[in-house]
Amino acid sequence: MTQSLDLLENASDSLNEALRRVGDATHLNPRPYKFAVLHFTHAIELLFKHHVAQAHPLLIYRNPFSKNLAKESTIGLWDAVQFFKNEQRELTEETLADLRWIKDLRNNIEHFKFEMDPLAARLAIGRLIRALNEFHEENDFTDLAGLIERDCRATYEKLADEYKQRLFEAQRSAELANSGRDDPQTCLSCGSPKTMVAAGNKLKCHFCNDELALHECVRCTERYPEVLMRVWNDDNGRAHRDWICDFCYDHIIDHD
Ligand SMILES: [Zn+2]
Ligand SMILES: [Zn+2]
Repeated sequence: MTQSLDLLENASDSLNEALRRVGDATHLNPRPYKFAVLHFTHAIELLFKHHVAQAHPLLIYRNPFSKNLAKESTIGLWDAVQFFKNEQRELTEETLADLRWIKDLRNNIEHFKFEMDPLAARLAIGRLIRALNEFHEENDFTDLAGLIERDCRATYEKLADEYKQRLFEAQRSAELANSGRDDPQTCLSCGSPKTMVAAGNKLKCHFCNDELALHECVRCTERYPEVLMRVWNDDNGRAHRDWICDFCYDHIIDHD
C-alpha cells in the first residue's frame, strides 16, 4: 500500500509550507503565522498518522475491521500519540503541552476567535521541531531534516535554534542576577537547566519567570523551596508557620 508514503509526502508538503509562512511573517505583518500554525499542526498530524500506518496501514482507521473502510473515519493526533505510548514510545510532558497548546490555537484560528502572540507561536513551533527531531531520532522514524526543502532550510534551522537562544539568554540573566552562594539550578517549574536563582525569599526562574517561595528549615536552618518542605507547626491561627525540609523530616521519622 502506498497510503503511508502519501501521508509522508503530504506531511512534508505541509511542513515546508508552514516554514515558508514563518519566513514570510515579519514584525509588521504577523498574519502569515496564522497559516504557519495551520500548516504545521496539519504536518504533525500527517506525520504521526504515517508512523502509525508504518505499523500497519489499516491502523489509521478508527475501525480497521469495518466492512466499508471508505466510510470509516481515520484516527486523529491524540489517537496516534496514544498509539506511540502503547508502544512505549513516549513524547515528553513538555512536548505534549506544546502540542495541546498549538492544537488549541489551530482550533481557535478555525473558529475565527483567535488572538495570537506571534513570538509565542514561533517559539512553540521551534520547541516542537526540536522535540520531534529528538522523538524521531530515538525511534528511528523518518529524519525530519531530510524532508525540508532547500528554500525552507534557513527558517528551519533558525526555528530549531531559537529555543536554544532564549534558554541561553535566560541562563545568562540568571547568572547575572545570582547573588547567592549556589550556582543557578534547574527550574522546578519549567525544567529549564541553570535558570533558577534565589532572589530575596524566593527562587526565580529567568526562563519561565515563575517564582517559588523559600523557607528556612526549623531543624537544619537551610533554605529550601516550599515544594520540597512540609509545614511543621500546623496549628490554625498561628501567625508564624514553621517549615521543615524533607531531609530533616525523613531523619526525624527514621529515628522515631
Ligand atoms: Zn522556569
Ligand atoms: Zn532541614
